[in-house]
Amino acid sequence: MKILVVDDCRVTCTQIANILDQAGYPNAMTVNNFEEAMAVLAKSHEAEAPVDLIIMDVEMPGTDGIAATLTIKSHNDYEDVPIVMVTCHDDEATLDRAFAAGASDFIVKPVRRIELRARIRSALQLRREMVKRLDREKELERLARKLERMSNQDGLTGIANRRCFDDNLVKEWVRNGREGSPLGLLMIDIDHFKSYNDALGHVDGDSCLCSVVSAIRSAVHRPGDLVARYGGEEFAIILPNTDYAGAMAVADNIHANLSKSGIMHPDSTVSCSVTVSIGITSSVPTCQTTPEQLVQAADRAMYQAKQSGRNRTETICLPPSDELRQ
Ligand code: GH3
Ligand code: MG
Ligand code: MG
Ligand code: MG
Repeated sequence: MKILVVDDCRVTCTQIANILDQAGYPNAMTVNNFEEAMAVLAKSHEAEAPVDLIIMDVEMPGTDGIAATLTIKSHNDYEDVPIVMVTCHDDEATLDRAFAAGASDFIVKPVRRIELRARIRSALQLRREMVKRLDREKELERLARKLERMSNQDGLTGIANRRCFDDNLVKEWVRNGREGSPLGLLMIDIDHFKSYNDALGHVDGDSCLCSVVSAIRSAVHRPGDLVARYGGEEFAIILPNTDYAGAMAVADNIHANLSKSGIMHPDSTVSCSVTVSIGITSSVPTCQTTPEQLVQAADRAMYQAKQSGRNRTETICLPPSDELRQ
């Protein structure tokens, strides 16, 4: 346990450090003013060996012990370090101010060995409980973050899942609508994937899905773009601020990446390697259109790509708003 003694009187510092040493708390650090105390706190925090307890003189020239306590307790990194005040006066007003500033206990000068030991023991006990509580809180925060990540992620491929896609689409719809920018959407479906599974089994089918995902991901470059698993062997890409030409460039890259990876397909009528069909749409969001219409348009385009022979991209424009209202 790391103890810091703050007292402008060097003799008192030495006396307290000696009592601590005899009580089984060796190597207490001593400083003579508030500024030095802050420097020790900062250095210990940086070194990830924080101070566990501060014994603070009330009467000090410059910043006194109560003002120092107030500053330390209002600092995010030190607010949980217990502070025991040491004072010549045990008048109620001084003690009230000390406790209001955040002190957890006090000792009256001259410091008595038995009293100091008792106070230190309970203050350190308090510190240990605080550290345990903080560790538990950190662990809970970590788990909450992990859960949040998992609830937005597809377990097999590691990309965004359907839920994350739906949330992101609405957000981008609103944002692009506000900015008057086109929102591009790609729907991608693996060609003849059932026969891939039937020929090679689901384990190989799963690793094929992962390979297709990496071909898709390396075709997408902007930080705001989102690649998601829409369903079984269907993927979707949200492309903010992207018109048809931009979306078409991404689709071309996907076909090229897949052709380069050359994942063998044992039973496809289209090619000897795995291919995809892609549907594209892009639209500036308005009050007359909805995100669902964007998905439907990209989906229809994807089915057109299937019907016209697979391993290709088709485009569908969102109908004009007066048609949509009928
Ligand atoms: P098309 O070219 O018309 O898209 O034909 P297809 O065979 O790809 O389409 P269909 O919808 O008939 O089959 C999709 C197949 O995708 C069926 C299912 O076995 C497979 N599939 C869906 N999800 C998974 C998965 O998570 N793992 C594996 N291994 N296969 C999956
Ligand atoms: Mg003093
Ligand atoms: Mg499908
Ligand atoms: Mg398919």
